[in-house]
Amino acid sequence: MSTLRFHAIKKSLNKKPIKIEEKERRSNIFCANVFNEDKMRQYLTKEAFVSVMDAIVNGTKIDRVVADHISTGMKEWAISKGVTHYTHWFQPLTGATAEKHDAFFEPIGNGRAIEKFGGGQLVQQEPDASSFPNGGIRNTFEARGYTAWDPTSPAFVYGTTLCIPTVFVAYTGEALDYKTPLLRALQAIDNAAVEVCKYFDKNVKKVNASLGWEQEYFLIDRGLAASRPDIQLTGRTLLGHSSAKGQQLDDHYFGTIPNRAMQYMRDLETECMLLGIPVKTRHNEVAPNQFELAPVYDEANLAVDHNSLLMDVMDKVAERHDFKVLFHEKPFAGVNGSGKHNNWSLSTNTGVNLLGPGKTPMSNLQFLTFFINTIKAVHDNEELVRASIASASNDHRLGANEAPPAIISVFIGEQLTNVLDELQNVTNGKLSPEEKTDLKLNVVGKIPEILLDNTDRNRTSPFAFTGNKFEFRAVGSTANCANPMTVLNTIVANQLIEFKKEVDNLIDTKGLKKDEAIFNILREYIKKSKNILFEGNGYGEAWEKEAKKRGLSNHKTTPEALKAKVSKKTIKIFEDLGVLNKVESLSRYEIEMEEYVLHIQIEGRVLGDIARNHVVPTAVRYQNMLIENVKGLKEIYGNDFKKFAKQQMTLIEEISGHIESINSNVTKMINERKTANHIEDIDKKADAYCNKVKPLFNEIRYHCDKLELLVDDELWPLTKYRELLFTN
Ligand code: ADP
Ligand code: MG
Repeated sequence: MSTLRFHAIKKSLNKKPIKIEEKERRSNIFCANVFNEDKMRQYLTKEAFVSVMDAIVNGTKIDRVVADHISTGMKEWAISKGVTHYTHWFQPLTGATAEKHDAFFEPIGNGRAIEKFGGGQLVQQEPDASSFPNGGIRNTFEARGYTAWDPTSPAFVYGTTLCIPTVFVAYTGEALDYKTPLLRALQAIDNAAVEVCKYFDKNVKKVNASLGWEQEYFLIDRGLAASRPDIQLTGRTLLGHSSAKGQQLDDHYFGTIPNRAMQYMRDLETECMLLGIPVKTRHNEVAPNQFELAPVYDEANLAVDHNSLLMDVMDKVAERHDFKVLFHEKPFAGVNGSGKHNNWSLSTNTGVNLLGPGKTPMSNLQFLTFFINTIKAVHDNEELVRASIASASNDHRLGANEAPPAIISVFIGEQLTNVLDELQNVTNGKLSPEEKTDLKLNVVGKIPEILLDNTDRNRTSPFAFTGNKFEFRAVGSTANCANPMTVLNTIVANQLIEFKKEVDNLIDTKGLKKDEAIFNILREYIKKSKNILFEGNGYGEAWEKEAKKRGLSNHKTTPEALKAKVSKKTIKIFEDLGVLNKVESLSRYEIEMEEYVLHIQIEGRVLGDIARNHVVPTAVRYQNMLIENVKGLKEIYGNDFKKFAKQQMTLIEEISGHIESINSNVTKMINERKTANHIEDIDKKADAYCNKVKPLFNEIRYHCDKLELLVDDELWPLTKYRELLFTN
């Protein structure tokens, strides 16, 4: 082992876990740093409290005078917690969160000062936003951006800063962030679902989408991570030969959590408690040093904020413990990747989970309605669903052998499949009394039982029904959940609107009873969306063939997948529902394509550097050692030397071959990048990066990894896979 690696590993092994003392019960500190309902009651005037609650529940506007009262209360609370600054906290399209801190402190002359935080500062801010991606919106409209308070996600204190969740929009109204379209989509599904719920219960006034995410990640010693320029700069290893032992023994999954990692998790969980992120489960994942953390589910907007905040907090807490968190979907080739399952459901203000079993036949018909409409929505928009999770990093995971395929399909389990089969045979038009009774008793009536027992899990499905929710499993671990959540809620809202129209139409024109009309429409939906249902092994080759026959898309790369975001159909749905207008859709597409290009460009540069500046020089050094050896043998044995130097000479040749291949491929890659950089059209540019530049990564890597196996371990400068994965 090289001395460099040896010291990094020794240092890492010598690090002691930071023991985390939990002095208080978690339930006592939960939400301690959140300006939630309790705190509002305490710190706000009655009028201000009522007004905020009305804004949260009914989306009413808060007037300026009341905003002043609210900001004053918020400031008092924050100061009581030692806070000095405030920030508008938002989620620009860079994928990170953004904040700019301003002090409460304000000098008022004569050497005196006060702490000030007015309603205006709470409600709206103008960050210098010119350097956030906007996909040409600003150029087109010369608009400046501003952030505006989102009262539905409570303010919180992190460190000594009061953070106010906000949306980020252009002055001309276009969304420049993830939250704005999500809020619009949630409004759309609320409206559409309430209308459909009224068939079953007139008391339903509001429907909330819920989200429970599960965050997977790798935890790597900070020193070791820093020893790899690829991990430092791209979040993943761009080369590295597989470790002799990987995950094949399955000895990590659900195993004992190593102590240093455990202390990290405890520390992280404490921070989450204070911030009101209700984390509940933690466990080892399949790969070594891979873990998962999941909260109790929450209203989707809040859950999205929590996930974005969590990713920040994870980074910060990791620093304290000398770890680096790898969120990348595929940090190590040949080792399990990371995802972020999005569990999704809908629930009413009357406390009913619309994707859960009900108590009466009517409420179970309601379940079927939402269940089948969701399937139909995914069926009709499978390409858009695929696009909602597309990213350069997720491309490594989708379609790779231990991850969901790039084909979107829905898994519902055997028993629900049987239910749909029976429903498919419902008579066209009016139902006989016998048929109605039969449906109620033998089909709808059995649903509670079936759902209770829906343990049939298919781990290979990208979108699975799991008893009382759908689980969107193909979401990447680096993703902002707002992206898939916006798409899912929008397409389901769109579908529910369509459904309502069709049912009403049958009632009005054919004189069908409400439940007859519903059964009839659902029957048609089942027939039309059958193609998306798949119960088999999603990882198998057979499925790729079958899916192709069924006409399902299989977009393996981001540039290909993203096109669905700007199809006529998508633009229309988003426009009709007021989620994104055409300009917004187009600009988002451009941003995501550009991000893809930048991503591959950076990886290409880093790989080129490592190959030329680390790998090749090391190989040359080793080759020189071999040459010296051969020369020595020749000195001793004269013309007989070949008998003893044969292996060495073969190695010398092999090394030269690999060096030659690395150099020529790196040169090729640089040239392909140059060519791609000259392309103006973003579609063609992304295509060039995807199909001309990226494939060379594999070539270069192949020869580097071969050299890793040939070259003396003493000389190899890069921390190896086994050292990254098994040191903790
Ligand atoms: P796994 O997928 O790891 O087996 P589970 O099936 O237990 O885990 O999924 C649990 C996740 O589903 C939790 O994070 C939980 O918060 C979430 N969840 C449970 N019910 C709902 C719901 N109604 N809406 C959204 N998410 C939910
Ligand atoms: Mg899951």
